[in-house]
Order: sequence, then structure tokens, then C-alpha cells
Amino acid sequence: MSYSSKGRKVRRRRKSINVRNLIILIAGAVVTIVLFILLITGIVRLISKGIGALTGDGKEKNSSQISSTVSDTDSSSAESSQPALVYSNIQMTQADENQGELILINSTHGYQSEVEDLQIFWGNKNKSYSLLVAEMYAKPEVVTGMNEMMAAFQTQSGISSVMVSSAYRNVDDQQKMYDNDLAKNGTDTSETVAKAGYSEHHSGYALDLSYNSAAGTAYLDGTGSYSWLIENCYKYGFIIRYPEGKTAVTGMAYEPWHFRYIGKVHAEALTKGNYCLEEYIDMLRLHGQDNPYNFVSETGADYLIYYVPSGGTTTEIPIPQGKEYTVSGTNEGGFVVTVTMGSGSSYASDTKVSTAGTASSSN
Ligand SMILES: [Zn+2]
Repeated sequence: MSYSSKGRKVRRRRKSINVRNLIILIAGAVVTIVLFILLITGIVRLISKGIGALTGDGKEKNSSQISSTVSDTDSSSAESSQPALVYSNIQMTQADENQGELILINSTHGYQSEVEDLQIFWGNKNKSYSLLVAEMYAKPEVVTGMNEMMAAFQTQSGISSVMVSSAYRNVDDQQKMYDNDLAKNGTDTSETVAKAGYSEHHSGYALDLSYNSAAGTAYLDGTGSYSWLIENCYKYGFIIRYPEGKTAVTGMAYEPWHFRYIGKVHAEALTKGNYCLEEYIDMLRLHGQDNPYNFVSETGADYLIYYVPSGGTTTEIPIPQGKEYTVSGTNEGGFVVTVTMGSGSSYASDTKVSTAGTASSSN
């Protein structure tokens, strides 16, 4: 009895010693593992900093931009998935500021260029729409966009009676329209016809669309089957330039018939953001090359969009090397650069690729 109890005591003591040893062993192992993890983390950080310093050479702006937007812990993976861009400058002239798909034309920003490359619709259009008169002109990309849009509209609705009732207009035509509108309405100013020199129709980027109704030719009102055009025109590069609810900004009443071409990327970005063109340019002005506006299209393509203010007689425009890009003047003192970053089916048919050859100098 006593022996067995003694024996039990001994066994208990041995057991408690074993437990103590085990605890010491585990604690030691934990401390070792923690020290090992700290050592490895330190080495990885040192290596990634070394790589960052190497790749940052000669492209300070971008490596600093990228490293400031990602946290310490995943800097190595972010740098390997998005290498820093190398920028070179191209030069644009003062005249270039007033040309391009994004030019802003309104009552305070007159059209200041001469359109050189107008294309006649007749012979270049498809049969999904008609023309009010045979001689109608617009920019070539507008004719192409109109062909695409109206073919899709006809497929979808079966309607092919939409008519271009006005396209490019010269200043004399606009003056007549303006005078007629004032006479008709007995007013001093017009909210539906722009003053001569201040109409988007001077640029070749604007179209008015009509249809044949029981009462004769009427402007599209954006209702019924025609609402498809309002909702889908951005896919073809067009916007409703004077949208509902934006009269205070545009200075023009809602015009569901007036379509303005600004290119597919910007038409989609503007429409999805619920901007009018004035607001869209205002927004882009906040995004310089250091802080570009990143727009991902529903096509999956990824774009960097940034604003470069005018530099006077010539403006140096930074362009990332090897990327497809477009540059448009804004007609309000700057340029908008659109860079295709890749993936998806990009809207890149009219873009240029920056190479060392076309770029004048590296900054
Ligand atoms: Zn119009």
C-alpha cells in the first residue's frame, strides 16, 4: 500500500518533471521560430529595397509614385506586377491645343481651328440611316462611328429611318440658324442654337439626328425605340452633349438629337461618371501625369488618362515609352493624354505607340 503510494508519488514527480521539460522545449522552439521569421523578413526587406533602388534608377518619378501607393509588406510583389513606366516627351504646338476629339466648345470657348480632314457621308455611309441633303460632312471618325452605331441600332430595332439632319456647319450657316431662331422665338439669346463661332458643328465632331414622323421630319426626342441611342451611343464614341439636368453647366437645353463624338474611351468614361463635357474636362484637369485617372472599360481594357496644361508656344507632353496613346487638345488651355495599359479589347484603333524614335527627349 505504502509502496504503491510511494511509487505513485515518484511517478507523479517524474510526470511533473516531464511536463516541465516539455514546456521548456516548446517555449524554446517558439522563440527559435519567431527569431527565424524575424530574420527572414529582415532579409526579404533588404533584398526588395535593393531591387527597388536598382529599378528606380532613371525613372525616379514613377518608382516613387508606385512605392508611395503600396504598403511595405507587399512592395516587392507590386513592383514585379507593375513595372515603372519610362516617360519621354513629345512636343505639341499652340494650334494643337484647339484640335482633337476632346475639344470643349461652348459659349465661352469658341471653335478656333479650321477643319482640314472632313469626310463626305455620301458614298462613305452604310444603309442603316439617311441624310437630309446629299452634301453633308463630318470628321472621318464620326462617319465611321455613325456607321457602326446605326448598323447596331437597325439590327436591334429594325429601324433604318434615322436621318442626319445637320453635321458640319460653317460660321455663315450658323449665323443664319441663330438669327432664324431669335426671330422665331422673339428672344435676344438662344438656348437651342449656339452663336456663330461657338457651335460644335464647326468642328465636324457633332451631328443632329432626326427621323420621319407623321408630322414630317422631327428631331430625335430620345424616347421609345430611340432611347437605345441615348443609352448606347457611348459604345460608338458619341455622347449626348447637352444632357438632361445639366443645362446650368452646358448653357444649353436638353438636346436628345445632338450627338458629339469624343472617342470611345472618353465617351464611356464620361457617361459612366454622369458628367457633361464641361464637368469631365474639369475632373481630368485634377489628374496630372503624377496622379493619372485610371479608367477600366467594360471591354476590360485599362487606361491611364492625364491632363497636361499648356506650356505656351510649345508644350512638352510626357508619354510612357512603348505604350499606345492618344493626345487631344481641350480648347481650354491644355491637353489630355490617354494611354492604353493593356488587357481586354482596347479602343485603340486610332492610337500611336511611343518609341524612342518619335519621342524627342527623356526627362
Ligand atoms: Zn446640334
